[in-house]
Amino acid sequence: MYLYNSATRKREEFIPNDPELVKMYTCGPTVYHFAHIGNLRSYIMEDILEKALRYAGYNVKRVMNITDVGHLASDADTGEDKMLKGAKRENKTVMEIAKFYTDAFFEDCSKLNIKRPDVVEPATNCIAEYIKIIEGLLEKGFAYEAGGNIYFDASKLDKYYIFNDHDEEDLAVGVREGVEEDTNKRNKNDFVLWFTKSKFEDQALKWDSPWGVGYPGWHIECSGISMKHLGEDLDIHCGGIDNAFPHHTNEIAQSESFLGHKWCNYWMHVHHLNTNDGKMSKSKGEFLTVSLLESKGYDPLVYRLFCLQSHYRKNLVFSFENLDNAVVTYQKMISKIAALKPNAEEPVDQAAFDVLKEKFLTALGNDLNTSLAITAVYDVLKYKTTDQTKLAVLADFDKVLGLDLIEKAARKRRELEAAPKAGQFTVISEAGEQDEAVEALILARQDAKKAKNFAEADRIRDELKAMGIEVTDIAGGAKWKRV
Ligand SMILES: [Zn+2]
Repeated sequence: MYLYNSATRKREEFIPNDPELVKMYTCGPTVYHFAHIGNLRSYIMEDILEKALRYAGYNVKRVMNITDVGHLASDADTGEDKMLKGAKRENKTVMEIAKFYTDAFFEDCSKLNIKRPDVVEPATNCIAEYIKIIEGLLEKGFAYEAGGNIYFDASKLDKYYIFNDHDEEDLAVGVREGVEEDTNKRNKNDFVLWFTKSKFEDQALKWDSPWGVGYPGWHIECSGISMKHLGEDLDIHCGGIDNAFPHHTNEIAQSESFLGHKWCNYWMHVHHLNTNDGKMSKSKGEFLTVSLLESKGYDPLVYRLFCLQSHYRKNLVFSFENLDNAVVTYQKMISKIAALKPNAEEPVDQAAFDVLKEKFLTALGNDLNTSLAITAVYDVLKYKTTDQTKLAVLADFDKVLGLDLIEKAARKRRELEAAPKAGQFTVISEAGEQDEAVEALILARQDAKKAKNFAEADRIRDELKAMGIEVTDIAGGAKWKRV
């Protein structure tokens, strides 16, 4: 497999330290709010990476942290603690907030077919690991105490900047808007490893340490958790591009200074999802979450497909119009697969299977070219082989794609079989009611959809929703009920 390595800015052949086991680390969510779909794009692509590695024959051990302490609103070690902010907002304790949003995060992940990493570790579980690393850094002269906090001394490194070509001045703490300089720091790139004194006296979670009662900085948690579960050598570290600086830069600084050798060989960064108004998390004032997509009638897997259609190192523009296009693509794909006739008696054409699989692997091995991997699905549909072979190949591809291709197609097939008359659009009330007004609206919505007037179709759906009517599309029609 070839992957683009952000640390070297080159496409490189992926060679793990241990050919038997790939060690993979992912920066997890800060659990103070629902995840927005921009963040989830990163988790979808990291899921694809893990599954592609498994598909290529590797065993993978993947570790992810849950940030439930110490992530400040600003990367410059100032600003409010995000967890505390969430707790105040909802009048809950920090741990209640962490539990609630951790569960919500994994619920979203499961709707998007994102596999749960092998190890999921809350930051608050590993205080002893952080203290050990900080002690080591102090001993080796890479850290110092000032004003009650422990700082990493970035001036001790020959090369601090890994992921950017920025002029150092651009990144100077003091010049970034709205960031207050911490006067305890000796150098502008120094960062806090352990706080005993910070602006927020009411920090909810504190632990004993050799330097007094306090709590860890954000960056140290990923180094500590990774070393705890994956040891001193890491194959792949992933995260969103916004984590590259300063978070990952600082992770490398502290890990390699502590270990005395190289820490991680490959760095994978997923680029931003932007909306037309340039914001990552909101569209026309709405906070973009999986639940919001569902409330608008979208299958979360359509969002997964939408992400797979573009490359992870390109910014992706989100709009509901773009998502509607993905709906059409997804439905067409499912319909084509539904048209294949399964026949369990028939043997799979192994030669065809191998050719098609090779194509798919080549796409994935080309720095996770997921749009080519989607094209490979169409290649299967067009290939001259039996339907049963095609279905076997598609089931195999879906181990990586995670689009429920086979299940959705089987459901579609059953619905088509159960449909009353082909070509006729039938409206059925689940309760056996007759309501002409409701039926007329559902038919008008169908006409709008047929005319590709999705805005009007959405408007009618919202109108029905406001009336307390829930509509479900079925083959050859729609059924409705009062909720
Ligand atoms: Zn991290």
